[in-house]
Amino acid sequence: MNAGNPEYGTDGVYRRLGVRVAINGVGPATRLGGLPLHPDVLAAMAEALESPVRMDELQDAAGRHLAALLGVPAVYVTSGASAALLLGTAAALTRGRADLVDRLPDTAGIPNRVVIQAAHRDPYDRAIEAAGAELVTIGYPDTTHPDELRRVLDGTVAAVLFRPGRPGNLLGLEATAAIAHEHDVPVLVDGALFVPPVDRLRVYLEAGADLVAVSGGKGFRGPQGSGLLCGRPDLIAAVGVQHQDMDERVETWPRNHGAEGPFSPPRHGIGRPLKVGREQLVGLVAAIERYVRDPGADETEGTRELEEAAARLESSGAVRVTRGAHEPLHVPMLELDVRGAGADVDDVVRALASRPVPVYLGESEAWRGVLTVVGMALRPGDGTRLADAVIEVLGAAG
Ligand SMILES: *Cc1c(COP(=O)(O)O)cnc(C)c1O
Repeated sequence: MNAGNPEYGTDGVYRRLGVRVAINGVGPATRLGGLPLHPDVLAAMAEALESPVRMDELQDAAGRHLAALLGVPAVYVTSGASAALLLGTAAALTRGRADLVDRLPDTAGIPNRVVIQAAHRDPYDRAIEAAGAELVTIGYPDTTHPDELRRVLDGTVAAVLFRPGRPGNLLGLEATAAIAHEHDVPVLVDGALFVPPVDRLRVYLEAGADLVAVSGGKGFRGPQGSGLLCGRPDLIAAVGVQHQDMDERVETWPRNHGAEGPFSPPRHGIGRPLKVGREQLVGLVAAIERYVRDPGADETEGTRELEEAAARLESSGAVRVTRGAHEPLHVPMLELDVRGAGADVDDVVRALASRPVPVYLGESEAWRGVLTVVGMALRPGDGTRLADAVIEVLGAAG
């Protein structure tokens, strides 16, 4: 797992490109390239690359396999949870109609609004708009009334987006789905951070979710560019035609002779730029198989390094260290009281990032002068080096 780090003595691709190999104390962050992959996952990816396959066949087979593994009706593999949000929105907008697939993101004349509670807003909402939908926010940051949802469902709404884990007197998933379904409007859940545990998928679907977007590169520790869309088979079926390469001839397109056919294949859909490589797809299957076989197998990955960092920081006296847990990822986390150590948190972040081996820490608590450390992406030796870097930077600041 150490390949590529100059300090481990290898002369890898990053060194050739002149890119600094970093110490990732943040965890499954996209801007840091995600998590290291387990050798079994890497082996599956390498094997997938040896042979060509038809991607729609692979998608169907992987979807059936994952649906059985995860206990859900249908699954489609995407290039991430964000891609799953876009594709799920596209499915809700088109419901599989080829004429509509051909014209997204143009949604003139069809229900094209996606409703979201103010408390559920998030930068990932951009994926919804990218499909051609218009977001409509209801309620306020800490409260939504059921009538606020009822009033907006006037025939112009294609879907409701629901984001779990937000506190407040909000509409729960069950209440949201009950109201939405009275109007035949599907509910799309952004479960990126909340699945695994796998059971949550069933909980969301039983509460009324029609589709759930899941990240492959977070708790499942799959490839960074992978994710899932899970849920209603008719909506999942509407995803493939607007995601895959539709460079097909009418006469020989294999799907031309299905129950609803023959019909013309749509052209490249709105999801075509969100291509999933066969290595990502197979890598995610391998990671989920691994997870389902033993959900705790990789739980302690990086924990020893985290403990090493904590012990070193504590014995140095450079900064107060508090042990906690990252929620919802459910892994151990350190809080470093940088402000309490007399340093400016932004200066510390910049100083750590400008080192020959840059160190990145979590900044979600930066507003109160605290930086956080998660061990999921730490590799052997990183705990010591992370702690030494922090001690050095704080020493220079103090
Ligand atoms: C990480 C995340 C996403 C995006 O997941 P990717 O797999 O990186 O595309 C979407 N929504 C939420 C809430 C997330 O935390």
